[in-house]
Amino acid sequence: MRKKPCTHEYLAATESARVLICKECGIVHLHIQNLAMRLEVREFLGLADTLTEAANRVRVDEKEKTRHQEFNVLKSAHRLN
Ligand SMILES: [Zn+2]
Repeated sequence: MRKKPCTHEYLAATESARVLICKECGIVHLHIQNLAMRLEVREFLGLADTLTEAANRVRVDEKEKTRHQEFNVLKSAHRLN
């Protein structure tokens, strides 16, 4: 039995990356700038979860940093008065 030909469907596309899936092969194609990766759906989901967890941590850190910056600006403004 011959396999159906590959069809790549877009899952998401942003300035950072493009993600396509071939439902015939169960392969997710990840394109990040010049880097292209082929992952099985299960591997892709594992990677996605890992990246989401990492991204959330970075976001928390960034938020914390912004808060400190605001605090420092407030403090120096106070000092000027
Ligand atoms: Zn395919």
